[in-house]
Amino acid sequence: MTYFSAEQRNVIRMLYPAKYEEYSLILESFGDFVQKEILPTAESIDKNGTFPKENMDRIFKQGFTNIPYPENLGGLGLPYPLYVACMELVSKACASTAISLAIHGTVCDGLFRFGNEDQHEKYLQPLITGEKLGAFALTESGSGSDAKAMQTRAQLEKGEWHINGSKMYITNSGKADYYFVFAKTAKGHASIVVPKEAKGFSHGANIPKMGLRGSSLMGLNFDDVVVPEANLVGKDGEGFEYAKKMLAAGRITIAALSVGIAQTALEKSVSYSKERRAFGHPLSDFEITQGKIARMKTEIDASRLATYYAGYRKSIEEDYTTEACEAKLFATEMALDVCNEAIQIHGGYGYTDEADVHRHWRDAKLMTIGEGTSEIMEIVISNAVLGQ
Ligand SMILES: Cc1cc2nc3c(=O)[nH]c(=O)nc-3n(C[C@H](O)[C@H](O)[C@H](O)COP(=O)(O)OP(=O)(O)OC[C@H]3O[C@@H](n4cnc5c(N)ncnc54)[C@H](O)[C@@H]3O)c2cc1C
Repeated sequence: MTYFSAEQRNVIRMLYPAKYEEYSLILESFGDFVQKEILPTAESIDKNGTFPKENMDRIFKQGFTNIPYPENLGGLGLPYPLYVACMELVSKACASTAISLAIHGTVCDGLFRFGNEDQHEKYLQPLITGEKLGAFALTESGSGSDAKAMQTRAQLEKGEWHINGSKMYITNSGKADYYFVFAKTAKGHASIVVPKEAKGFSHGANIPKMGLRGSSLMGLNFDDVVVPEANLVGKDGEGFEYAKKMLAAGRITIAALSVGIAQTALEKSVSYSKERRAFGHPLSDFEITQGKIARMKTEIDASRLATYYAGYRKSIEEDYTTEACEAKLFATEMALDVCNEAIQIHGGYGYTDEADVHRHWRDAKLMTIGEGTSEIMEIVISNAVLGQ
């Protein structure tokens, strides 16, 4: 059995029957690498709260972030669902590493879609190759779900942007080289690249959190930060639309991360249920345990289908806004349920740190909150269905 699972393989075969062998080989080799190099680090990254820089560098070297980008930008020009499959594999091994990469990937996606040629060369290429790290700065202490209510302002004066305000709960902060920052302007909203060395830019201390303990989380301060006019991504006034589009793609990756976390919780549960005995039998002999395992597997497989389908729509340039929200809503809530059942199957041992099972539940919880909460997913989906 390879780390790139039979279930993942089947979805790739369904999407790309003619290229199935080639794509499977790529993903199998990436899965082997993740299992050997990333998986063994996950428990200590969580326990010590270590930022997974070494893991990320190893993954960058494998060409992971290159996958969906054209060859002229240093990418591999492969379809987006292969990137989704890699995201699932990294998350199955170490969710802290996966979330740091996912946010970095959201920045790459935004620069690719809305940036100009100069920005592709200056910012996107070093991000794709992993020489530089990106962060996505939208949320503020007073505006999360209601992101449009942001207070950070950017003003254009004599060919330079002056940015004032603050951001909150920004993944990769303190570690990133480029911050993709959203701010209010006279024309609406703008998205502006702020390099870490920009004068007036600073970040707070790392914010302790229940899961994804290896990922960094900080607030950012913009005290009359000045960057060149050329750092504006796309058009002034369109920034909020870019944020929504970047979040839509980000939601597919958060769904993939959830599938990976749930898959690892299932695999641990299967092994433990065969080893642990009660009433003279392994737990796996009991119908109630079998029912739990069956539901966990079914829900993971259904989530994977929804997730790769949303990724497929992105790759063929069909609108995927609703499908990404459906995948995120379903997969993130599923991961929480599956990880909860995994703790239950492990009994008292599952509640202890020694078992390293509650890590998955703690990691999964963020998935229902970040890049839009489950409630916001319900609003977007129901608006599409009801035509509102
Ligand atoms: C670990 C972590 C990493 C993060 N990384 C980033 C990052 O890299 N970049 C970034 O910009 N942000 C990031 N965030 C912020 C995250 O995106 C926000 O926390 C999230 O969007 C929710 O916003 P909020 O926390 O302000 O909650 P609120 O918006 O205050 O919501 C609180 C509750 O009210 C509910 N709610 C809100 N509005 C409605 C409504 N209309 N109807 C029903 N219920 C509603 C919400 O669903 C939620 O349950 C991160 C957060 C965390 C915890």
